[in-house]
Amino acid sequence: MASPKYIFVVGGVMSGIGKGVASSAIGRIMQSKGYKTTAIKIDPYINVDAGTMNPTEHGEVFVLDDGYETDQDMGNYERFLGETLPSINYMTTGRVYQEVIRRERNLEYKGKNVEVVPDIPLEVIRRITEAQKAANADVTLIEVGGTIGEYQNIIFLEAARMLKQKYPHDVGVVMLSYVPIPGNIGEMKTKPTQYAARSLNSVGLQADVILARAAVPIDEKRKEKIAIFCNILPERVISAPDVESIYDVPINYEKDGLGDILCDVLGLERRPTDLSAWEAFVKKSKNGSKKINIAVVGKYFESGEYVLADAYISVLEALKHAAYSQDLGVKLSYLDSEGYEQDPAKLSELKNYDGVLVPGGFGSRGVEGIIAAIQFAREQKIPYFGLCYGMQLLTIEYARNVAGLAGANTAEINKDAPHPIIDVMPGQEDLLTKQDYGGTMRLGTYPCVLKEGTIAHGAYGSGEVAERHRHRYEVNPEYIQKLSDAGLVFSGTSPDGRLMEIAELSKDVHPFMLGTQFHPEFLSRPLSPHPLFVAFIKAASK
Ligand code: GLN
Repeated sequence: MASPKYIFVVGGVMSGIGKGVASSAIGRIMQSKGYKTTAIKIDPYINVDAGTMNPTEHGEVFVLDDGYETDQDMGNYERFLGETLPSINYMTTGRVYQEVIRRERNLEYKGKNVEVVPDIPLEVIRRITEAQKAANADVTLIEVGGTIGEYQNIIFLEAARMLKQKYPHDVGVVMLSYVPIPGNIGEMKTKPTQYAARSLNSVGLQADVILARAAVPIDEKRKEKIAIFCNILPERVISAPDVESIYDVPINYEKDGLGDILCDVLGLERRPTDLSAWEAFVKKSKNGSKKINIAVVGKYFESGEYVLADAYISVLEALKHAAYSQDLGVKLSYLDSEGYEQDPAKLSELKNYDGVLVPGGFGSRGVEGIIAAIQFAREQKIPYFGLCYGMQLLTIEYARNVAGLAGANTAEINKDAPHPIIDVMPGQEDLLTKQDYGGTMRLGTYPCVLKEGTIAHGAYGSGEVAERHRHRYEVNPEYIQKLSDAGLVFSGTSPDGRLMEIAELSKDVHPFMLGTQFHPEFLSRPLSPHPLFVAFIKAASK
């Protein structure tokens, strides 16, 4: 086997142009050439993990199998690669420093001066090579968060430089740059990309490939220009225009032969790229002329639509995968639940949707409005899917309005509720008192046993599944009997029967009313949509 190869993906000019998708797409291409591929994300934040970052600012917190709370790009990698990635594949500045400081305190540096350079980049490199080994990867992608020229990520670029200095033939650098077309000029301008390439040079790195992100495909003239000024071959400037769907990206890159170029850069044998399964999925994704309208009900986010979509990206993608598999499209509308608290008449807008979904969440804001929406969906028989908080609130609504438990609530909102239907999990109380919040929820994959004859069992087609979690509260065991007697079916539980993992209503009373304590959205993949999302979409399409 050839020595392991590394591709650093860095961003030029500005952020938010899809570096995560670009890295994922490159991963898919190299994998489709038969190279075992893994992907690493570096976030230049002091936060030790993404669990303490606000999703409305940073985007979704993506939970890995092993429970690590990471950036949404890890979700993109898993979806594009169809792989399960471990925590070693995600690092932040905080995580790296924490480890170096821990070692220093343990005298592991044997009394020498521990310095930012080289000790921090060396720890970054150690993590990269560990991830490579864990995956036994031929190709390891490393996406460096932020933009070149920023103060924050310089230490990670230094790690790239040091790795390349050590293995000059095994490290490649891809720069994703933005090529604007200013309205008043009407022409593609390459100057910002030229500056970005020079900034990269100033930290000792040279781009091998430049992905030219722009509204439209880049023309030959601009390719030549970027090539000359950025010191690369013109064919290594890859067109990266805006696309209808992120899943088009690998196919687009391959039109410019990106996979073979990367093989050349890394000294790998050029192998044919087999994207046939991917192409079939993309083709199917465009069949859906009928769009299913899903209302995502939650608390109001003032940060605007764009960020909102990012906060629920795995939910959105999971809905897409499920819809595409049924030759359908999907449209999401984000509805503010606080509006229902002020004006309950507004709830009737839910009649315009084929399904209602309540995603995960925390805290009290807008919750009464969500509960009102759940009641509406239940009574009007609109398919309802609740994820984590959405399952807990489904249970509360049922307790209050069907089981006759007035004032039922979650202890997260009201510790003194007359009926704490949702209560803090054993062991969590202590953590909350100590304000020990970081990485302490019930996190990661746990098994779930399904009850025969239920919607969940029918959808999964098996008796035991494993799903990813991120929560501190659970259905209070003291109320399980009362709720079951009132008709709520706990169709999935932990193997010991203690934790309620899925709650649903029988098909006889409602077409689809189901909530999961876990986050099924994290396991949906383009080529293998999640069974519960498929079941929800099927119900919504009727
Ligand atoms: N806030 C709830 C809990 O901590 C639900 C969490 C979530 O939706 N991820 O249990």
